[in-house]
Amino acid sequence: MATERQYREHIVRYGRMLHERGFVAATDGNLSVRLSANRILSTPTCMSKGEMRPSDLVVVDMEGRLISGKRKVSSEIGMHLLIYRLRSDIKGIVHAHPPTATGFAAAGVPLNQPLVCEVVIGLGSIPLAKYGTPGTTELTEALEPLVPGFDAILMSNHGVVAYGADLEQAYMKMETVEHFARIALVTHQLGHQKPLGAAELEKLVVVRAKYMNSGQPEAQGQASGNGHGRKKAAAEPQPVDASPATGLGRRTIR
Ligand SMILES: [Zn+2]
Repeated sequence: MATERQYREHIVRYGRMLHERGFVAATDGNLSVRLSANRILSTPTCMSKGEMRPSDLVVVDMEGRLISGKRKVSSEIGMHLLIYRLRSDIKGIVHAHPPTATGFAAAGVPLNQPLVCEVVIGLGSIPLAKYGTPGTTELTEALEPLVPGFDAILMSNHGVVAYGADLEQAYMKMETVEHFARIALVTHQLGHQKPLGAAELEKLVVVRAKYMNSGQPEAQGQASGNGHGRKKAAAEPQPVDASPATGLGRRTIR
């Protein structure tokens, strides 16, 4: 178990990586870690994620009230709190605007086609939540039905949120989403997509279940972070319009 100081360093490190990879511009994006039942360590508002120091971070309670820190709480904290509330297995969250995945979100196209085997193993599929004004309950209400069943979500006309058993897993999922979006874009440019068939998907479901049950944080290559949430979510009722994680997103979510 890391100390709060180490968690602060993790946020600074992954914030810098988001910035270096062009997943955020200006002061976009936010990252957080659940320190304890009622303490969330988060990036503050109005700061470049490439230039933060550990002391810039804020600690808030589960209502989003500032507990400590000299900077202001992000208006996006509600999105983080919703995810921590709905998913006890989640300890780290990353929100960013990676250009290709956000392009899909702005085009109204979910990333739920099973085009790449390791993405299927690692994430299942990436649904598209309907649009909600940032910093309002409209946004959290749009995300709410999807959070139990998925570990990464496209937010219409906005960006991506990814979460995991720790901040590293959350960050890796964000990278996987953007990488997959680039691959999906190439298939669109080629004018042809050849999704995996039912027989192949069935085999991947078995592999996915095996990794989830083994509790291994790493599956294969990019397909990391099969959070326990997937296991938990499988037992929960799935939202009507959402593809269940094991259904691998073969239906369009709008
Ligand atoms: Zn945003």
